Amino acid sequence: MEKKAFVTKEMIEEITKTYPTPFHIYDEKGIRENAKALKEAFAWNKGYREFFAVKATPNPFIINILRDYGCGTDCASLTELMLSHAMGIPGEEIMFSSNDTPASEFAYAAKIGATINLDDFTHIQFLEDTIGYLPKTLSCRYNPGGYFAIANSIMDNPGDAKYGFTTEQMFEGFKLMKSKGVENFGIHAFLASNTVTNDYYPTLAKQLFELAVKLKEETGAHIAFINLSGGVGVPYRPDQEPNDIRVIGEGVRKVYEEILVPAGMGDVKIYTELGRFMLAPFGHLVTKVIHEKHTHKEYLGVDACAVNLMRPAMYGAYHHITVLGKENEPCDHKYDVTGSLCENNDKFAIDRMLPKVEIGDYIAIHEAGAHGYSMGYNYNGKLKSAELLLKEDGSVQLIRRAETPKDYFATFDQFEFYKKLGF
Ligand SMILES: *Cc1c(COP(=O)(O)O)cnc(C)c1O
Repeated sequence: MEKKAFVTKEMIEEITKTYPTPFHIYDEKGIRENAKALKEAFAWNKGYREFFAVKATPNPFIINILRDYGCGTDCASLTELMLSHAMGIPGEEIMFSSNDTPASEFAYAAKIGATINLDDFTHIQFLEDTIGYLPKTLSCRYNPGGYFAIANSIMDNPGDAKYGFTTEQMFEGFKLMKSKGVENFGIHAFLASNTVTNDYYPTLAKQLFELAVKLKEETGAHIAFINLSGGVGVPYRPDQEPNDIRVIGEGVRKVYEEILVPAGMGDVKIYTELGRFMLAPFGHLVTKVIHEKHTHKEYLGVDACAVNLMRPAMYGAYHHITVLGKENEPCDHKYDVTGSLCENNDKFAIDRMLPKVEIGDYIAIHEAGAHGYSMGYNYNGKLKSAELLLKEDGSVQLIRRAETPKDYFATFDQFEFYKKLGF
């Protein structure tokens, strides 16, 4: 599929009069249409809820848009819980799917009434010791080990993942929690990441539904919800076919009716914790070409770097690039598109075919709406950029300002040195 940016050169020239590059910009219209499609795809299930994975795009303005479609939040840390709570999201709409969890974070999650999804058998006791009781509703994260395959193709390797309870531990855990007064149980699993196939959720659901029936039969536990978690992906590459969420929702409904309904479990709620699928395509990192370098290769130097979008440097991930204003020109020049970190892996693209680029051109880096800004860091003392929202009416709203040197030095504020900086 041809990838088109949701901004044009003219729009960016206008926006940069107020907000200099680099920045992340999000497309409200796209976010809304996608969230609505997800909601409709699972409307067959009473009690369905998407708990948006906050780590993907931890911005309250973005999360507020998703709230219009019934989304709650999925958190894995104190600050993600704090953000959700400060937004006024009720506890029932906050999922706490953490791992290696500090006691203080369990305590805070319990205090705000979030649903706790335990990552390990030993956390049952740890949670009870921490808060003095077990909540009436608890969930466990499942990891069957081995490989996760669809038909004959291996999608991921849960056997090598640090997360979750083994099958045996699920049964032992449910018995133990039941004996300690837990009344409503949840099952959660995240077995493959960024899947670009409509079969991932249905295949996962079948496995979890079969487990749920056995758990109910053997332990007598009331299974209240099954959480399919994240992992529905997006096509980063133009040659990939995007997932069709309607087909995915239908696929899950089919196995639900095959397995859960006949077992008398037609009241089980389906939950999801999507991050990437909700936001990645609806965010661009917009950056300006500030240098051209002709040495052993042709380099374009831009004013963003891996601090703004780490995935290419960290995973060698492909992110599509549009040179704004040159959408229809032939891609007949080969470039490495680099940032300014003192790290040779600070490249947004390697050997990428693009139109002939000039200094001053603006480029949009695609699929930067999830795991983009949020993965950023401050290496080389680089500052994090602003986040903007392109609203449905075409106006642009600043939804997080860019960092300033004062932010960078703020944690020295108790020292004499800080005063010398003159803030
Ligand atoms: C990261 C994560 C998600 C979201 O994953 P995506 O790939 O963004 O859909 C959901 N749940 C948990 C527990 C996660 O760690």
